[in-house]
Amino acid sequence: MTGMNGSNPVSMLQKIKRQQLRITGLVQGVGFRPFIYRLAQEFGLTGWVKNDGEGVLLEIQGINCEAFSSALYKQRPALSRIDQIKVKTVTPVSLEEVFLIKESQGGEVVCDIPADIATCPDCLAEMRDPLDRRYGYAFINCTHCGPRYSITKSLPYDRAQTTMAGFDMCPTCEQEYHDPLNRRFHAQPTCCPDCGPSLSHTITEIAHYIREGKILAIKGLGGFHLVCDALNANTVQLLRERKQRAAKPFAIMVAHPEQAEFFAHISPDERRLLEGAARPVVLLKKINDSLPETIAPNLNHIGVMLPYTPIQHLLLDELGARPLVMTSANPGGEPLVIGNDEAKARLAGIADIIIDHDRDILIRVDDSVVRQDGNKTTFLRRARGYTPCPITLKTEGPSVLALGAYLKNTICVTRGKQAYLSQHIGDLDRATTRAFLDETIDHLCGILQVKPQLVACDLHPDFATTHKAMDMDLPIFQIQHHHAHIASVVAEHHLKGPVIGVALDGFGLGNHGESWGGEMLRVDGLDMARIGHFTPLAQPGGDKAAVEPWRMGASVLHQLGRADEIETRYPDKDAKTLMLMLDKGLNAPRTSSAGRLFDAACGLLDICETSQFEGHAPMMLESLVSKIDIDPEGWNIHEDNLNLLPLLDKVSYLNAQSGANLFHGTLIAALADWIEKACAREKITTVALSGGCFLNQILSQGLIRKLQKAGLDAYLNQQAPLSDAGLSLGQAYLAQLYLEREN
Ligand code: ZN
Ligand code: ZN
Ligand code: FE
Repeated sequence: MTGMNGSNPVSMLQKIKRQQLRITGLVQGVGFRPFIYRLAQEFGLTGWVKNDGEGVLLEIQGINCEAFSSALYKQRPALSRIDQIKVKTVTPVSLEEVFLIKESQGGEVVCDIPADIATCPDCLAEMRDPLDRRYGYAFINCTHCGPRYSITKSLPYDRAQTTMAGFDMCPTCEQEYHDPLNRRFHAQPTCCPDCGPSLSHTITEIAHYIREGKILAIKGLGGFHLVCDALNANTVQLLRERKQRAAKPFAIMVAHPEQAEFFAHISPDERRLLEGAARPVVLLKKINDSLPETIAPNLNHIGVMLPYTPIQHLLLDELGARPLVMTSANPGGEPLVIGNDEAKARLAGIADIIIDHDRDILIRVDDSVVRQDGNKTTFLRRARGYTPCPITLKTEGPSVLALGAYLKNTICVTRGKQAYLSQHIGDLDRATTRAFLDETIDHLCGILQVKPQLVACDLHPDFATTHKAMDMDLPIFQIQHHHAHIASVVAEHHLKGPVIGVALDGFGLGNHGESWGGEMLRVDGLDMARIGHFTPLAQPGGDKAAVEPWRMGASVLHQLGRADEIETRYPDKDAKTLMLMLDKGLNAPRTSSAGRLFDAACGLLDICETSQFEGHAPMMLESLVSKIDIDPEGWNIHEDNLNLLPLLDKVSYLNAQSGANLFHGTLIAALADWIEKACAREKITTVALSGGCFLNQILSQGLIRKLQKAGLDAYLNQQAPLSDAGLSLGQAYLAQLYLEREN
């Protein structure tokens, strides 16, 4: 062995070291081995690297082992995630001259599947280069980008397990695939125009249809989108009619953030979110009405995303600065359409033309929806680009499966310290969504290769998830809804000891069959005590009251002793029947729900006659807020319960905007007062906030600020959604604790 720079060979020899590095995390399918290979060359090291069932294993030999290790961590590939590097010194090997990428025995064994990733800048440059062999190719991808989760059936992650299995690589692609220095080394979905999938129409044709005002169904990464010209108000209206979606906002796709600046305000953080590899829909504040009002009626935010597939880039390149409506093709709230035949059958009445291709989508993954709140990102929907990236728990535990609740459902599977929250599944009121729930359970457990030891679900006996849990051949652990909400915050923030939890949502079954939703809980792991709640209101008509805010308005008037006003306030409603329900307590169950309290305010202010989607009326109320007003007499705390009827009484005499201002300001002040008193009484300074009502930005931001001022540590969900879409994380965390306690 000779010294590399001609210095004394004997002293060099003493400095030569050999180390074995075991790296775990998301280190496969993200270009990790070529990166290691190049780094070893750079530091003049010999040895080898390979993938195995635990991650990446490598040995390095030379005089720069330490420098290599720190560079490895600092320069790791953008899409990778390193959980741990274990270093072991081993005996140097003589006569080793090169660094090798070893083929794993029995093919690629991959322990983690990456999320689907937006087309990378290198691929975009090739796609736009007329001299490149992939010029204009709609399926270009590489190790740094392209489909992953949505096309992968199971482990090991190699081409045979993806929906690319049917496409044989051409000799040129094959060469790239086997070249360690190529960007497509072991890029499982790699292909080119000679050997890969093809699109049913040319980009020129597709652009032509858009300009003509047609509605298109275009196959994307995790499902079909319905697409049209966002500036054509007639087409947007037609899409609403055909999709039977009266008010739920549509997302917009623009080529560059600059194009969104014509109609929305974009902060530097929001721009980073828009441009990130996950490419979520980002909710931005509207600044004017340059887009048709029908895109997001009566709301002051608009959902915007940038293109993330080659097809979308090619289409926007062709169309120039034209924003597109890009909404999930999920007719009538059914799961997203993913198959070509399915698209013909289910989208025929909605889309004028169907644009598909022959790369199958294995599992549907909706677009993610996020919002920037101050310096934090809030998930409204966590799906494409994030699933299946795990949320790391504080400690390792046995594998469990948590099935969530009912609305906006997701499931969660744990493996070791990692909690894998599934993509958005949807409301489980349809057989098709329930079938998707089954698929998601199989798919997620399949790609993680885990056999759960326990299934966790809600306390509600009639939820589809509870039925499913009962049907599985596993021990069951049922968890109270709001306990799970608070546990989801505890789990992701690694909170220790008891916390004061405030869960505000629409509905969850209480410990003794009550209807809960405005709850203060003392939570210490598996122990939960309900230490306070909102003063219950009657909910006349049961579930109907959750869609018709006037019913809750009338209920409040009745409770305030102003029942005689109901008929005059709601002249075109069946006020007589409602009065009867309230007088006799028939079909008017009492609920401590915060969601219904918001509905009551909307009903009293005559905002939103019928909610078109969950949270619709409260979103309209929030959009009206221009400043915060506080009525110091708007609430009282009686036997540790929060009574907001005085506030609703005041609100009922105001116009919509003043009412919205007073309602928000007073609710924040009341909650802060209620929480501070409970913290003092219980001698706890950690507060966990969760539940769909906290999606209200004014409420959550205002309350967090007040609690921080009072010296309390207040936490909201950050990585999981605040709504029931994050519930399965809390269930999974508690189920792990439960199993550990039982064993
Ligand atoms: Zn790429
Ligand atoms: Zn090829
Ligand atoms: Fe909930």
